[in-house]
Amino acid sequence: AQHYLKRIDAANALNAFIQVDPELTLAQAKSADERIAKGDTGALVGLPIAHKDVFVTRGWRSTAGSKMLEGYVSPFDATVVERFARAGMVTLGKTNMDEFAMGSSNENSAFGAVKNPWDTAAVPGGSSGGSAAAVAARLAPAATATDTGGSIRQPASFSGVTGIKPTYGRVSRYGMIAFASSLDQGGPMAQSAADCAALLNAMAGFDERDSTSLTRDDEDYTRYLGKTWSADGSDAKPLAGLRIGLPKEYFGAGLADDVRAAVDAALKQYEALGATLVPVTLPKTELSIPVYYVIAPAEASSNLSRFDGVRFGHRAAQYRDLLDMYKKSRAEGFGHEVKRRILVGTYVLSHGYYDAYYLQAQKIRRIIAQDFEEAFKSCDVIMGPVAPSVAWDIGAKGDDPLQMYLADVYTLSISLAGLPGMSVPCGFGAGANAKRPVGLQIVGNYFNEARMLQVADAFQ
Ligand code: GLN
Repeated sequence: AQHYLKRIDAANALNAFIQVDPELTLAQAKSADERIAKGDTGALVGLPIAHKDVFVTRGWRSTAGSKMLEGYVSPFDATVVERFARAGMVTLGKTNMDEFAMGSSNENSAFGAVKNPWDTAAVPGGSSGGSAAAVAARLAPAATATDTGGSIRQPASFSGVTGIKPTYGRVSRYGMIAFASSLDQGGPMAQSAADCAALLNAMAGFDERDSTSLTRDDEDYTRYLGKTWSADGSDAKPLAGLRIGLPKEYFGAGLADDVRAAVDAALKQYEALGATLVPVTLPKTELSIPVYYVIAPAEASSNLSRFDGVRFGHRAAQYRDLLDMYKKSRAEGFGHEVKRRILVGTYVLSHGYYDAYYLQAQKIRRIIAQDFEEAFKSCDVIMGPVAPSVAWDIGAKGDDPLQMYLADVYTLSISLAGLPGMSVPCGFGAGANAKRPVGLQIVGNYFNEARMLQVADAFQ
């Protein structure tokens, strides 16, 4: 913990953390030391971890990257935070993020942009940009993150770390400040798939306090690591028998040449490991953008109604009456992108527009999930790029929300279907982008995390 605290201090300019508190960290490290001295041999005991500021923490502030929650201290720990503490992990601090997890570049944070450690002119990705930058710069060996439409996979890709978004419902949302509840899913970021598997063992599991938590038995996500794909292990190549689906929509126009080259090279390596490449199709890929940007804002507009200046967070200093107090508090507390989403979300849910937008989006969401059902009939995992390009320059898309939304094209449909997906570093861009990482996206069928982690680990 001391080692990482020193590194965090030295890397202040990255702005990866919203809060560090060495006293809190070292106290927790001390009790981990005591557990170890008493013979605790848990896999994670004593290891430091950084938490995305969307997870509420007792003792630490929890802002979700918003001025609305500046200084807010939760009276309880999120289930995820509690589970890692129980496993003996030591909290290093709270990481920066786009406000209420809305964004793809971390520039929507009320606490300032985060710099990509590989190339400080670039964004780290978002919304879990602080977690990704912290792991990439070795300011933390592991970090928590959340993914509603790509916020684990895309920053992992832009920052050259490994991150996994599990099947919707695997990780408890209790104490995870809500963005779009039917999509929000927590997951770990770390240096490798093997580390992510060990972290997921502690992080995932049924929680009665989350009504959409999956009631499945706990499983060991490390159980296939280092094993051959086929059960009998008789094949000479480790991944012989594995069928990798390549959706043609993920390799079409709009994909940058340097990203394509890095992904192609990774696929070659998978073939060398014994896997077969199978063409598949996900025809509704393009519709995932309008569908997601109706459903997510709709749910957000409802979830964010709780920030009214009465029960939580920021309250305007001066107001005439109750309504004026609501208005001023929300006008002052929320940033531009959050306001835009509340406006869109309220509109698509309003009488007369509900059927045309929200209901329609829900129907297409179902069809998007069916695309994947069909594709998984002919393959075991799906692979492709995480994003159409490497990380862009800080400021490049800042005032063009539509450009930012379009960059989510390869991650949104996986979230809409509730499938597990991950990003694995597979190289770098070319020319001026030579310092900017590229991530390979691996998508599995429902509940197939252990196999996906095996596939990722074999590559690493
Ligand atoms: N970029 C997407 C958005 O802005 C996804 C964010 C997320 O997954 N939290 O909504």
